Amino acid sequence: MKMLLHMCCGPCSAFPVKHLRELGHELTGYFYNPNIHPYKEFARRLETSREFAAKAGLPLIVEPEYTLEDFLSRALAGPQGRCRECYELRLRRAARYAKANGFACFTTTLLVSPYQQHDVIRELGEAIGREEGIAFHYIDFRPGWQEGVQISKDLELYRQPYCGCIFSERDRYYKPRKENGQHAGRI
Ligand code: SF4
Repeated sequence: MKMLLHMCCGPCSAFPVKHLRELGHELTGYFYNPNIHPYKEFARRLETSREFAAKAGLPLIVEPEYTLEDFLSRALAGPQGRCRECYELRLRRAARYAKANGFACFTTTLLVSPYQQHDVIRELGEAIGREEGIAFHYIDFRPGWQEGVQISKDLELYRQPYCGCIFSERDRYYKPRKENGQHAGRI
């Protein structure tokens, strides 16, 4: 099947690309991730995605715009939490691109991560697919998570330390002060 693969980053693409190719699918990567902050981190992950695509021989479409205000306002206002808004934004854009450019279906590398809200991604992908008139190809890539980590290390890809948005960066590094006035973490 001619499939558009939304890529959240290079490392998370490693196992899905291998697995989908083994199943015989014809893949094109699609990078659209305005949720990555700050901009230098976005640029680094985009560059790593290009590096992975070149090493894997994967055609790659890049949506380079960086709509920070739009992302933040959606993330803060989303009644069901920022991650749902984040998934919806990226999956809808991928679905529309796939529909407009003759793909049979679309899917996302977000389905490989044990740290993402897997069931929400599936539910949203299938709903958006119905609304946009293009099939969402669901696969649980999570059993291949460790294999993907190893492939990304073998390819010497940059592996990011937090999910993407500025909130997740805060959650990764900020530790509340202990009662003696010392920070518990590294800042
Ligand atoms: S934590 Fe990750 S999935 Fe959730 S809003 Fe931030 S970047 Fe998006």
